[in-house]
Amino acid sequence: MKSTKNRYSANSCRQDSNSETNEEENGELCPGFKDVDAFVKYGLGAVLSATKASAGLPQAGDEYDFYRSFPGFQEFCESQGDGLLHCMSQIMQHHGCRSHVRDQNKLTGLEERFDLVVDSNDVILERAGILLDEADGVNRNQQPVMPAGFQPPKIVVSSWNRKGPGSGSRSETFRLLHAKNVTRPQLKFKERIDNSNTPFIPKIFIKPNARKPLPAYFTNKQIRKERPEDLDVPAALADLIHQQRTQEHVDDMFAHPYQYELDHLSTQEKLLSKPEPQMYKPMAETKFSFIDSLEDLVALNEKLCKLSEFAVDLEHHSYRSFLGLTCLMQISTREEDFIIDTLELRSEMYILNEAFTDPSIVKVFHGADSDIEWLQRDFGLYVVNLFDTHQASRALNLARHSLDHLLKHFCSVDSDKRYQLADWRIRPLPDEMVQYARTDTHYLLYIYDCVKVQLLDFNHSQPGLLQSVWNKSKDISLKKYVKPIYTEESYLELQRKQKKSLNTQQLTAFRLLFAWRDKLARQEDESTGFVLPTHMMNKISEELPKEPQGIIACCNPVPPLVRQQVNELHLLVQQAREMPLLKAEIAAQKTKGLTPIKKPEVMLFGPHDTSRVSESDLLHLSPGELPVKQGMLFSEDEHKMDIDVQKTSGLLAPAKITLFQEVETKDAQKSLSVAQMKARQITESFQNPFRMYLPSKDVHVNKNAKFDPSSKIFEISKRWKLQSIEQQQKEMEAKKKAKEEAKEQARKATEERNKAKQSYQESLQNVVTVRQQAAESAKSGGKKRERVDGEVGELTPKPSKKLMKSAEKPQKTEATPQESFKPFDYSQSDLKVFAGTKSKDSTQFDPNRQDEGFKKKKFPKGQKNNSAAGNRSMSFLAGKSDRGFRHNWPKR
Ligand code: AMP
Ligand code: MN
Ligand code: ZN
Repeated sequence: MKSTKNRYSANSCRQDSNSETNEEENGELCPGFKDVDAFVKYGLGAVLSATKASAGLPQAGDEYDFYRSFPGFQEFCESQGDGLLHCMSQIMQHHGCRSHVRDQNKLTGLEERFDLVVDSNDVILERAGILLDEADGVNRNQQPVMPAGFQPPKIVVSSWNRKGPGSGSRSETFRLLHAKNVTRPQLKFKERIDNSNTPFIPKIFIKPNARKPLPAYFTNKQIRKERPEDLDVPAALADLIHQQRTQEHVDDMFAHPYQYELDHLSTQEKLLSKPEPQMYKPMAETKFSFIDSLEDLVALNEKLCKLSEFAVDLEHHSYRSFLGLTCLMQISTREEDFIIDTLELRSEMYILNEAFTDPSIVKVFHGADSDIEWLQRDFGLYVVNLFDTHQASRALNLARHSLDHLLKHFCSVDSDKRYQLADWRIRPLPDEMVQYARTDTHYLLYIYDCVKVQLLDFNHSQPGLLQSVWNKSKDISLKKYVKPIYTEESYLELQRKQKKSLNTQQLTAFRLLFAWRDKLARQEDESTGFVLPTHMMNKISEELPKEPQGIIACCNPVPPLVRQQVNELHLLVQQAREMPLLKAEIAAQKTKGLTPIKKPEVMLFGPHDTSRVSESDLLHLSPGELPVKQGMLFSEDEHKMDIDVQKTSGLLAPAKITLFQEVETKDAQKSLSVAQMKARQITESFQNPFRMYLPSKDVHVNKNAKFDPSSKIFEISKRWKLQSIEQQQKEMEAKKKAKEEAKEQARKATEERNKAKQSYQESLQNVVTVRQQAAESAKSGGKKRERVDGEVGELTPKPSKKLMKSAEKPQKTEATPQESFKPFDYSQSDLKVFAGTKSKDSTQFDPNRQDEGFKKKKFPKGQKNNSAAGNRSMSFLAGKSDRGFRHNWPKR
């Protein structure tokens, strides 16, 4: 089965083939020029000298009028002017534009002539654009393969859907059928999609063909259906509920629901014997049903349960969804073809488990790896007794293992895989796509027969090889769907694949962009490739554009969400640019010439007159030699200068007034005590009153722009905007910090309360059972929607209420920080419960554990604890932070 991981990686390399071949064919592009470059160079040179010459002409006003008093000059001007107009008129005619520039009668004046020239320029430029597009392989006239009645889709040619060599001349590339205006099927899903950064929990709640019953976790509707995050309770309580539930069931939750059945499945004797291949019916003579109602689905299930084998395939869409959507299920029996609209019947598909998990029915797939995962993820469907023809093809050592190859090999059917990457969300499903989808399963049972025969023949009728295929297939059906989990390290994994070394700033940008993209993709339920394709993310990280416009320039075409959030992205890039570079990196950049030192006139803005430092003084100094140490106000701290040299190029230095000094690195923060942190936070909340006079670090002014007053004004206004954005961000951060502090106080109070509870628990031996009873009654009593205190009260036996009251005291004294302000040593806390290992003794209610749940929240969002981000982590933090969007999602 082909990997779907690189789906979006390469849709920018549109131009590869076409533009290059053009040149080679023609030999000489224009007479006298060996290639486009030579022609362009010449053309630009000509234009430049013409521009220069025209600028050198006597100016209208005094000079011109003076010269014009000489008849020779006048004559010369007129003849030259006429010649020019003639030339222009010819060019315009050549391009089919209005061309009466020279006809005095038809023109009222210079203005109209000017308009004519402008119009013609537009026409010519437009034409040049079209031709360039064509050369790039974007042919605007050619209609892509698309079912009748659909809008011409955007053509995206990407490397992974390109046909290999020898595929014939029919079509060099596949086209991704990307219909516009497809309504998002997610909108009508009965169950909201869970894009939260928490591990996937199986969807199954009824287990047909069970030899081992489904664990209570899945059958208890109360638990299943009332997700704590959907309850109308405060976040802390939702987390508590969630944690309690998951602790009890952690083993069940992540196990394969049919593990036991699959482990005990042995291949039936008859499945290892040589069959008589049963020829498929011609497709035209085969009954076909499109199933999009529950009634039909139930009937289909009945039918399937009576068979001994059927073939299955899925079609999937992954571009406009975070996790992906299964759009179709094709099923073929020996007699009939079915296509199920799985977008429509998504919540009902589970009923097919009756046939799918029946060990006496063989389910034939081709390349089932992804299908097995999609079935679990979207429908809670599992397969018991799978036969994968792809595995058979491998065992037989066939030339290729794709379905088209098997179709060709066994059925002499030429399949057209062009629709494989069509937008399978399209409804009603066009006939062409129905045909294509049917082909994927129609022949599969016959192929199943054939490969079985061959596998036995291959092995002198010994069942060993065939058995190995059954085993491999079983392994595939044991696969578990794993949700993509974002961790602090995820970006590194992707970055390593890029095979490009990035410096500290670039890597920071990559990390920040990666996090932004992941968050937005989950929130908007879009693929990360839709939000920001990796190659664009790379480009932005490498170039670190100084302006929002630069970010846009890194993206072609610009993804809609990038356009929408370009300011946020710009702030991220800015943040990355502020990272200190390692000395080696600075040196490397210098040798590469990547960091031209900014010129002072670019840098400076404000009331201080710095003009006495001339441009030439600075230009040729290396960063280390910049005159940073001038002036009493400037710091002499060497280390700090290393950091800042890059971006300040000389005149900006950290202020001596340390109150307004920027925070240092994160590492430094770690070693601070809580009290020191607090002090720092207060200090940080001060705004440097001189800030407005400091040169902004990010605004780049084009050298020529300084002559253009309007552009200067533009830059200035933009700079102020950026500064105000920065300031707003700072303020937001300060607010966030304040909030976090408040939370910490609350947490401490809870901690106290829990300590009290624990000591109470120790004094009561039977407390666990009482607690459990209480919890049990709480579960069945349907009182989940009660407020925090009510919930806690329920879980706690009566006598503790008194204790609780006393324990609440610290909460009341919150206002007096001296009392409650006790630095907490997090290194001592046991965070194992959030880590990968399943805790064995997790069935008991343990107030300390619950406590840890609260502790975890202590970590500010930005610096999530790594151990909590492990694959198996039940990161409530993420769940919680996602809750905000869950409630009002989807927004469209
Ligand atoms: P298939 O099993 O060939 O019908 O493919 C099932 C689904 O997998 C298709 O609907 C596509 O969404 C996806 N798919 C198949 N091949 C590729 C590929 N080469 N690249 C990306 N996605 C693919
Ligand atoms: Mn498939
Ligand atoms: Zn298919």
